[in-house]
Formats: sequence, C-alpha cells, structure tokens
Amino acid sequence: MTRSRYVYLDNAATTPMDPKVIDEINMHFKETYGNSSSLHSMGQKAGQILEKSREIIASLINAKPEEIFFTSSGTEADNLAIIGVARKNREKGNHIITSSIEHHAVENPCKELEKEGFKVTFLSVDKDGLINLNELEQKVTDKTILITIMFANNEIGSIQLIKEIGAIARKHDVIFHTDAVQAFGKVPIDVNDMNIDLLSASAHKLYGPKGIGLLYIREKGIRKGWGKFIKPLLFGGGHEREMRPSTVAVPLIAGFAKAVEIAKQEMSQEAERQTKLRDKIINWVLENIKDSYLNGHPKQRLPNNVNLGFRYIEGESIVLDLDMEGIATSTGSACSSKSLDPSHVLLAIGLKPEEAHGSLRISLSKFIKEEDVNYLLETLPHVIERLRKISPLRK
Ligand SMILES: *Cc1c(COP(=O)(O)O)cnc(C)c1O
Repeated sequence: MTRSRYVYLDNAATTPMDPKVIDEINMHFKETYGNSSSLHSMGQKAGQILEKSREIIASLINAKPEEIFFTSSGTEADNLAIIGVARKNREKGNHIITSSIEHHAVENPCKELEKEGFKVTFLSVDKDGLINLNELEQKVTDKTILITIMFANNEIGSIQLIKEIGAIARKHDVIFHTDAVQAFGKVPIDVNDMNIDLLSASAHKLYGPKGIGLLYIREKGIRKGWGKFIKPLLFGGGHEREMRPSTVAVPLIAGFAKAVEIAKQEMSQEAERQTKLRDKIINWVLENIKDSYLNGHPKQRLPNNVNLGFRYIEGESIVLDLDMEGIATSTGSACSSKSLDPSHVLLAIGLKPEEAHGSLRISLSKFIKEEDVNYLLETLPHVIERLRKISPLRK
C-alpha cells in the first residue's frame, strides 16, 4: 500500500477489526490464558469470560446461551450443521434441500454428502436472487431431513424470506439451517420469530477476529423425537458440550462478543447510513456509466452490498485497476475470485458467462465515509472507460 489513500470496499470478504475489539482481545491474550475447562481460578476466570460472551452473542439473535456452540469459522459451522444433521438423521431420510447460490461452505458439504448417497435438491433463484417458496414446498418429501438456505448472499447481497422458509420447514417437520454469516450483526435476526433451527455466523465479517465462528443449535421443544439432531464432526474432550471439542479460544470469543456488543449499539443507524451510501453508488453508476446494470435484489439486499455488471470488460481487470488507485473491491466471492470459472451465483440469476465475468462487488463497512464513496465514483468511470477502450469484446 503505497498510496496515501486506501479505501477498503471488500468487507464481504472480511472486515478490519474494530479497535475496541483489538484492545479486548489483547487484554484477554495477556490476562485470560487459562483453559476454560480447568478447575483452578485461572481456568474458572476463562470459563466466566466464555459464558458471559456466549450470553452477549446469544442475545443478538434471541437465542439462549446454551444454544450457541463456538467453532473455528463460519465454514466449520456450516459443515457441522449440514454433515452433522445428515449423519444423525440418515435413518429418517436422505434428502436435503438447498439453493443454487449458497456459499461454497454450504455447497461443498452438500456435494460431499451426495457422494455418500444423499440426494440434494439445488433450488433455482429468480433474477433478483430469491428462491421460490412454492417450489421449495413442492420439493419437500417424506425423505427430506434438512433445508439449508442462506440468509443473505455474499456476492449479490439478496436477503431471502427466511421466516417464510422456516415456516415451511416447520410445517413439514424438517430441520432448517441458515448460513447467516453475511447477515449476522447487519440486519435484525430472531431465531424464534424466524423459525430457524440452526444458524451459522463468523466474527470476522462483523469487525471481529478471524478464526472464530458459531453454530446456533435450537435446544429442544420444536418437534418430538428429534432429540439432539446433530452428530459432531470432531471427537475429543468435552468442550462445547462435546458438540465441538478443542480447547476453547476464549480471547477470540471475547473479541467476538465485543464485536456483537458494538453491533447491537450501531446496527440500526449503520444499516440506514450504509443503505444510503449503497443506493448512492448504485444510482450514480446506473445513471452515469452506460452499459452497466445491478446484480441482486434492488431493495431486499444487505445494506453494505453493491454488485454491478459492466458490459465488454472483465471484473478482474476492474478490481486490479481500482487497486492501483487505492480502492479494494472484488469480483464476487473471495474464494472463487482466483479461479477462472464464472461465479455460480451470477450464472444462477441468469447472467451469461461473459456477463458474470464483468461484475464488480463493492462492499461497505462502518469505516467508509461519504468522501470515500465520492472518491470511488470519481475513479470508477475512468477505469471503466480505459478498459473498454482496449476491450476486444467491444463492438
Ligand atoms: C465468509 C462466509 C462464510 C465463511 O466464513 P469463514 O469464517 O470465513 O469460514 C460462509 N458463508 C458466507 C455467506 C460467508 O460470507
């Protein structure tokens, strides 16, 4: 980073930490080094911090503390939910329903399960990136054990009708998991009101540390006979009530809790502020840069997500040129952005492969100010114009 100005607009990939979170974690690395399972006072101190953190985090989504299980990441939480439910409920059925726009952390465990004999239905989405509720309900069979549909999409920002999806799952006595990694701390979530049984989240998408995530597991009471409906992936000691053994990363979890505490205070005002900036970018680009279009739902989308298509040029070139101007963006998912395959999400909403290659994701954060957006909007047209001049795709 040689430029004086650096505008980080890739917050869907990961966020910088809030300085208050860094302070919290540093303090705990120094002072709370005990194993939360140890009997001595240092262990107990760590245990108290752990349980306090669990309470703070649970309350963000109206869960009980004992329904929160910490994992190493959002990816691990997704794997635990999907593979754990499949393995535990195999004798009940072998059918899973998901969408065609899931993060790879959901898509790939589903594909692994197909190799183990499970049948997976990948629901299509409309041009805005939403699944069809009637289609979902039609696809449920007496063999269906799990519906896993993401809360908000990481590439195009579209937010599904989660409560309605949960109601369909509930009606048919099917477990409902949602990957809420992008939504957690950005939009209100209530696991009870929204009929959610399992929910994945990750700290590093909400100004917390990398390497810590969680799976919410509904405790009981929704359906007789399901009991504990997940089989763990790891076997070891008794940490996290044997659901996820490994010495618990208490300092990271304390940082996660700090990030959640801050999110609770800032969420509604930040959502409003970022939505304004988001719409300013979208409207300005659509008006001022020709042959551009919006990907994802125009309104029902994450406050911080912009995904724009530019005809005749490649998203990768835009990202690299913007980077030279001190602006960090993405072509879509960080995981697929280094591969040459077009994004499965953009193909699923109906883009042609060449269009899917011409997309740019701009994801905002609470650290982004109006002047940063203005700088982006000053810079972007020149980058697009320059690339189009040399584009062989341009007629
Ligand atoms: C980032 C992300 C994940 C993966 O979370 P990690 O903690 O990085 O493993 C899963 N799902 C979605 C929607 C994401 O955006």
